[in-house]
Amino acid sequence: MKLIFEKSKSSRGCAILPPCDVPDVPISPGFAREKPPAFPCVDENEISRHYSALAKRSFGLNDGFYPLGSCTMKYNPKVNEEIARLPGFADLHPLQPPHTVQGCKEILDIAARCLQEISGMDAMTFQPAAGAHGELTGLLLFKKYHQSRGEGRNKIIIPDSAHGTNPATAAMAGFEVVNIASGPDGCVDLAALKAAVGPDTAGLMLTNPNTLGLFDPNILEITAVVHEAGGLNYYDGANLNAIMGIVRPGDMGFDAVHLNLHKSFSTPHGGGGPGSGAVGCKKDLVPFMPLDGTSLGGADSPLSIGRVRSFNGNFLVVVRAAAYLLSLGKEGIPEAARNAVLNANYLMEKLRPKMPPAYDGPCMHEFVISLEKLKASRGVSALDMAKALQDKGMHPPTIYFPLIVHEALMVEPTETESKETLDAAAEAFLSLYEEAEKNPESLRSAPKTAAIGRPDDVRAARQPVVKYG
Ligand SMILES: *Cc1c(COP(=O)(O)O)cnc(C)c1O
Repeated sequence: MKLIFEKSKSSRGCAILPPCDVPDVPISPGFAREKPPAFPCVDENEISRHYSALAKRSFGLNDGFYPLGSCTMKYNPKVNEEIARLPGFADLHPLQPPHTVQGCKEILDIAARCLQEISGMDAMTFQPAAGAHGELTGLLLFKKYHQSRGEGRNKIIIPDSAHGTNPATAAMAGFEVVNIASGPDGCVDLAALKAAVGPDTAGLMLTNPNTLGLFDPNILEITAVVHEAGGLNYYDGANLNAIMGIVRPGDMGFDAVHLNLHKSFSTPHGGGGPGSGAVGCKKDLVPFMPLDGTSLGGADSPLSIGRVRSFNGNFLVVVRAAAYLLSLGKEGIPEAARNAVLNANYLMEKLRPKMPPAYDGPCMHEFVISLEKLKASRGVSALDMAKALQDKGMHPPTIYFPLIVHEALMVEPTETESKETLDAAAEAFLSLYEEAEKNPESLRSAPKTAAIGRPDDVRAARQPVVKYG
């Protein structure tokens, strides 16, 4: 498909303006461009067709089932959007006098109080722009905490099932990463953890349920081992959708968390849209929270890590989360979590005859299948399966993650899918599995219906071209 710049013809345009009725004011040379900006010259009809063609080439939640593991692609109620677009929120200027924005402060306060209650934390900041940014904020809190006690603890322990952002964050925050292998049950190997902790342990980063969709039965012992060694526990809250309103990271022994508001609390995400990685912490860490950014208000502490982002971060994502929290309420939030777990277990059981989970036992909000056997016997990979699922009208699951499962398919149906949708998805998976056994080539040559077949992922990541001309 041609870029809109390639459709440009210098004589075209779509503005019909009356003659200018005010005198031209010359712009002082220092401020004027030397040549006009290179906007594409296209007529209105062409613009409309161009963007509608682009929209048809993408796949979003409104197009079909989207079980992208770890990403919580749940339905985002449209009322959240309407509320975030109210002029009182959307047209706000961040430097407006405080007395004109008290309503917005109230929204931040409501969201903070709800999320503190759900996470079991004592304070919350909305500055971090996404989960990974929240991780960085949390680890900077850990760093300052240890420094303030005159301790040079420099190691962060991370299990091998972790999201790639965890070790990347720890390294970026200046820590040394200590990887520990998961046990045969897919959970933290307590013996390995006990062997890894020591006087240089700054903390542990963990998501629970973990990326295999398993709730660690030893969670209290795990966090206690780290505390006893003088370290702190960081909770990667990306999987909160499984437990929100039921159990709390604060009660599991975690000292700081980030919550991906765009995942669990319902803001459309993916494709680089705005997110919010709200960070909560326990009392002892509050003095280190970002400047001007905590729910507690009051004077900023001299021990603060400083600002991690301007103002209150992506405020409109917090507005959506607040709308979601208030509309679901105390009963609705845990019900959403229970249904997320129910849907995942339902789909997992439907797939079990041909595609059993890589780690057995009931799952939480997601489960992971390995196609290792199919790859060995028929040469059909997780990537081939993902491409073939596109031809069945659904978004593929996450593939090749977590790294500890070979040929992984990570499936997270979320709570907002009906039984009919889950049944149809199970049928799609199972029929493709049978097809792979009989006619592997048909999967290797998939997708047949998608706008883009098999792009060169490696080149796209290594040599991205993000600008025209
Ligand atoms: C999504 C995710 C993250 C990172 O969150 P972003 O908002 O994408 O930065 C971290 N850990 C896990 C387990 C995740 O699923």
